[in-house]
Amino acid sequence: MPLYEFKCRTCDDTFEVRRPMSEASQPATCPHGHADAVRLLSVFASVGAAGSAAPAARPAGGCGAGCGCAH
Ligand SMILES: [Zn+2]
Repeated sequence: MPLYEFKCRTCDDTFEVRRPMSEASQPATCPHGHADAVRLLSVFASVGAAGSAAPAARPAGGCGAGCGCAH
């Protein structure tokens, strides 16, 4: 079952919820009891896009996706 990350808009806390994909967009309640939480990008997606995978794939250039240089 996938793990989804939510951020509470009331107290700014982030928390993870494990639920079926069919319920991914259902509202979540934060651990502090606030009902106004929004879903963040999945943990897996954010690691693959901006994490350690990209720099490791091309060590020579040294420029990752977040680099602002002219490469
Ligand atoms: Zn909260």
